[in-house]
Amino acid sequence: MPELPEVEVVRRGLARGVVGRTVDAVEATGARSIRRHADADEFGGAVVGRTVRRVDRRGKYLLLRLDDDSVLVAHLRMSGQLILTADATRPRARHTHVVLTFTDGGQLRFVDPRTFGELFVSATRSRDGAVVELASLGPEPLDRATTPAVLAARLTPRRTRLKSALLDQRTIAGIGNIYGDEIAFRAGLRHDHRTDSLTPAEVARLHAAMVEVLDAAVRCGGSSLADGQYVDVDGRAGTYQHEHAVFARAGEPCLRCGRTIERVRFAGRSTHFCPGCQH
Ligand SMILES: [Zn+2]
Repeated sequence: MPELPEVEVVRRGLARGVVGRTVDAVEATGARSIRRHADADEFGGAVVGRTVRRVDRRGKYLLLRLDDDSVLVAHLRMSGQLILTADATRPRARHTHVVLTFTDGGQLRFVDPRTFGELFVSATRSRDGAVVELASLGPEPLDRATTPAVLAARLTPRRTRLKSALLDQRTIAGIGNIYGDEIAFRAGLRHDHRTDSLTPAEVARLHAAMVEVLDAAVRCGGSSLADGQYVDVDGRAGTYQHEHAVFARAGEPCLRCGRTIERVRFAGRSTHFCPGCQH
């Protein structure tokens, strides 16, 4: 499932590939992918003729800012992919649900085998639009304004456990199961560490780990797991999965202390940690 690094890599690809281009036609064959719209015609009506001005990201959401001040929001969820092709005659991948054809003939294709992802247009001039999920998102982990003090203020008043807090998009945006485990490992904190007992030094370690892990993952093009579902706009896989310290390494030795990485079920999610390095 794409998290902040993967979505950021897609954002950069879209920023290079679609800004300045104008949508000429829309085919939306997958009704679930545009479920917030009445039908394909209504969705198409909001997008056709529009030029993409800028591409932003908020948490795991992509925001394609259009020239009428509306926003085409893309949420990849479990398995969504946005693929650019210059050649409209190139065969479409299975599970291609929405195709935007630009006036220059190229296409942006939304592929989504599990159909949890979606595209929708938010017709609003406000920054994040009238989209409930965006309005409630926590701060961006890689934003300079998100300092250790900001993180502390969001974590320590809450009586919850570290991984639950990291996965809660209202606490901090963009972190999911993979990076939640990797960040906790790098910070030396267990997934079930109580947030209201975090010391300033622990929050500082957690903040540094969050920035280092997410930055490194973006530089590697994100993590592509064995399911092969995450690729960038050019169809390329990321390489950060080779750098994972704990995620999907249960039964293997910790690269730092040699103890065996454990896997448990925590907060309904598969969770990986080192019993020697994390407390
Ligand atoms: Zn260890």
